[in-house]
Amino acid sequence: MPLLPRRFERLKAVLNRRMGDLTVVLEQVDKPHNLSAILRSCDAVGVLEAHVVSLAGRTPTLNGTAKGSEKWVPLHRHCDADCGTLLGALKAKGFRLYGTHLSAEAVDYRSCDFTGPCAFVLGAEKWGLSAAAAALVDQPIVIPMQGMVQSLNVSVACATLLFEALRQRQAAGLLPSHGEGLPAERYDHLLFEWAYPEVAAWCQREGRPYPALDGEGAISENLPRSLKMRY
Ligand code: SAM
Repeated sequence: MPLLPRRFERLKAVLNRRMGDLTVVLEQVDKPHNLSAILRSCDAVGVLEAHVVSLAGRTPTLNGTAKGSEKWVPLHRHCDADCGTLLGALKAKGFRLYGTHLSAEAVDYRSCDFTGPCAFVLGAEKWGLSAAAAALVDQPIVIPMQGMVQSLNVSVACATLLFEALRQRQAAGLLPSHGEGLPAERYDHLLFEWAYPEVAAWCQREGRPYPALDGEGAISENLPRSLKMRY
C-alpha cells in the first residue's frame, strides 16, 4: 500500500516534536511489561530514544503493552559492563543524569530543573539502582510517597518523571515543534525509516544510502521492481 500523504504528515508531525535531549537509562529493567510500558510513555512524551542496560546473556524483550511504540522509539541495548561507559557518554554530550533511588540524599523531583538535556536513570524492579550507577549520577531524585508501600512500579515512576519534564519544558516554551529537537540528518533518516521500514532495511543490507523523498513523501528514486511491490 502506498504511503498516503496524510500518513506522511502524521509521521512528520510526531518527529517534529521529538526531543533528543530527554532520555531514560533503564538498569536491569527486564520485565517485558515494564519495559514496554516505559517505551510507550517515551513515545507519548516525545522522547527520541531510550537505553536499557542488561546483565550479560539477557536479552530484554517487549510485549503487547508497548502498543507498537518500539517502532517509534529506538531502544538501545547495552551490556551491564558498559553501563559506566554509557553514562559517561551521556554526560559528555551534556546530559545531566538524574538517578532515581530512595536514599537520604535524594531530592524531591519537583524541585529539579528538567528543561536542559537530562537522562533519568531507573533501577531494577527488585533491587533498584546499583551502587555503581548511583555513584555516577549527578543528582539522586525521589518521587515522594504518601502510602504504606515504599516504592512505585518502575514504569509508573518513569512516566511521572517524563511528564514532569514535559510539563516544565512546555511551561518554559521549550518544546520542539519543527524538528529542532534532533539533528537534521537524524531527522531525515528516521523519517525515511518510519515511512518505509522495508526499504530502509533493504538499503541497510545493501549498504546504500536512503533514497530522497519528495514533498509528499514519495520515493523519488527508481528502486528494484520486487522491492517496489512491497511498499
Ligand atoms: N527496593 C527497590 C529500591 O529500594 O530501590 C525498589 C525498586 S522500584 C520497584 C524500581 C525502580 O522504580 C527504582 O529503582 C526507581 O528507579 C523507580 N522508583 C520507584 N519508586 C520511586 C520513587 N518513589 N521515586 C523515584 N523512583 C522510584
